[in-house]
Amino acid sequence: MEEMFPLARKPDTKGIFSNTMNIKYDSHLHSDFSGDSDTPAAQMIERALSLGLDGLCFTEHEDPDAPPSDCDFRIDFDRYFSETAGLREKYRGRIRIDVGMEYGIQPHLPEAFGRLSRTYPFDFIIASLHNLNGMDPYYPAYFEGRAERDCYEEFFRVQYETLKLCDPASFDTLGHMDYIVRYGLNRNKYYSYESYAELIDPILRLLIENGKCLEVNTGGLKYGLGEPNPCTGVLKRYRELGGELVTVGSDAHEPAGLCYRFGDAAKLLKRLGFRYYTVFERRIGRQIRI
Ligand SMILES: [Zn+2]
Ligand SMILES: [Zn+2]
Repeated sequence: MEEMFPLARKPDTKGIFSNTMNIKYDSHLHSDFSGDSDTPAAQMIERALSLGLDGLCFTEHEDPDAPPSDCDFRIDFDRYFSETAGLREKYRGRIRIDVGMEYGIQPHLPEAFGRLSRTYPFDFIIASLHNLNGMDPYYPAYFEGRAERDCYEEFFRVQYETLKLCDPASFDTLGHMDYIVRYGLNRNKYYSYESYAELIDPILRLLIENGKCLEVNTGGLKYGLGEPNPCTGVLKRYRELGGELVTVGSDAHEPAGLCYRFGDAAKLLKRLGFRYYTVFERRIGRQIRI
């Protein structure tokens, strides 16, 4: 059984992360262990090597009770750990390979996720809201017949309520906090931190109180939002409230998406006053200078 450790707060720039010129670790990516990716894990690793990364963390989908779709969002944990162990062996000394998860949180699942986090030796765990009221906003049906604002508000409200139910020891970072903005009809045209502040602030405060990280997911840039998820305004507010802990991930499902616009993410974080990003090994956070 894996013990939980407190998140390291002191910066540590020793070891393989001594190259701090840029962000050289992708902490959110998928391979064919996830139902919505066809990429063999080895291809992601080869791409990471070609980019000169120090490391990467597979964060495969575990979404029990996801609405019916063509994808199976459940993990075969035995295959996941045995095959990644083989890959770690194969690439030993060349790149660091971490084994993580992206949990699709829902209000009735915290106990199941708590059990998983205690059972398996994960390096890192992302908590993400993908499904609410039995629907994934990825599909237009979620927005049908409803005002976009009502949908966005519901997303933030459910995210907060669900996070409050989660054991803080069961996850490390909150994934793509404004995920829904990728899919609304007007996407982020009428969306800003200010316009949803009363729903966003409680989420940020909860993360800070519990020493959890906020993810900077560059998938938002890939989706053409012109910003990561969450948007600049939310990251700025998190920093204002005292939040310091961020993880950075591309959410790549194929090799070409790895580290997508990490240079821009680094610049943005620096501009907002963040000096470090956090990477995890066996659930222990280490801060790396940006
Ligand atoms: Zn996700
Ligand atoms: Zn993901």
